[in-house]
Formats: sequence, structure tokens, C-alpha cells
Amino acid sequence: MLNGSTWEPISVITVPRAINLLLADKAIVVEQSGKFLRTVSSRFPVPSVIALRTYINVPRRRAHWSRKGVLVRDNYTCIYCGAKPGVVQRGKVLARSDLTVDHILPRSRGGKDHWTNTACACYSCNHRKSNRLPNEAGMKLIWEPKTPRTSYLVIAIGSGPAAWKQYIEIE
Ligand SMILES: [Zn+2]
Repeated sequence: MLNGSTWEPISVITVPRAINLLLADKAIVVEQSGKFLRTVSSRFPVPSVIALRTYINVPRRRAHWSRKGVLVRDNYTCIYCGAKPGVVQRGKVLARSDLTVDHILPRSRGGKDHWTNTACACYSCNHRKSNRLPNEAGMKLIWEPKTPRTSYLVIAIGSGPAAWKQYIEIE
């Protein structure tokens, strides 16, 4: 969701919540995902990015950590090998569901759910790294995980992350 006057990403919401805001005329569609949500009687186009009609004052804050947020921040790209959806890995075309959230300092060793301790990793790299630090596993981070300055709106279906990218600033 984008704030009505400053167009900053302000939150992560679900598809039904986004549609409720649109039906209540509280938001406008910025990007469509090209997908549809069907109910018994209707068919709604599913947005990937919406903007609130009226300005709401949201204090600048550090984005709330979430697994989904990590995947979106990293554009579903493995921080160890660069694999992303659509790339062929071991004879299989990777899907978004093959990208996982890796704890750089493993949780079993006290690693926390923090933006700087987590990154997108393909299943294969995550499995290979296991409960080790990257250097112990002979693996390198392609980039340094950072804390996003604001929260993302991620609609869980469709083109959310790509469409969203131009609205996101990462410190
Ligand atoms: Zn990988």
C-alpha cells in the first residue's frame, strides 16, 4: 500500500484486505497483477500495488521483519548463488516456492529473525549451508542484507514484488 500523498510504501496487506479497501473506495489501484479473485457472485481484478486515497501519517520506522518481506527485499534471488525463479537449477525450473529464508547466523546458534541476519536463499544453498556460517560452509554472500526503511505492501498473488520495486527504497 502506498501512502496517498507521498507514495511511500507503508504496509504489507493481504489480497482480501486490499480488495476491501478498494470496494470501500479508500484506495486506488496503482498496479494490477493480471490475476483475478473469484467469489460466488463476482470476479475482482487483484492489484499488486494500491495507494490510499487520503494521507495517513505514518511515522518513519524500520520495516517489520517478515519472511515474505525478506523474499521481496531480495527479489526472490538467492544471496549465495544468484538463482531466482525461472532459472534452471539441476534440471528443474525454479519457482518462487523454491526460494527460502536463510538465517545467516543459524537460529540453532542464536541467530535472530532480523533483516540483517536473514536473506533469500535457494533450497539447495540453504540445505548445503545447513547450521553453519557462510564462511564455515565455504559460501559467500553476494550482497549485504540491509534493513529496509519502510514496510512493503505485498499482495501475496501476482506481480507484487516486481511492480513494487520502483516504490521501494532500501538503505
Ligand atoms: Zn542458491
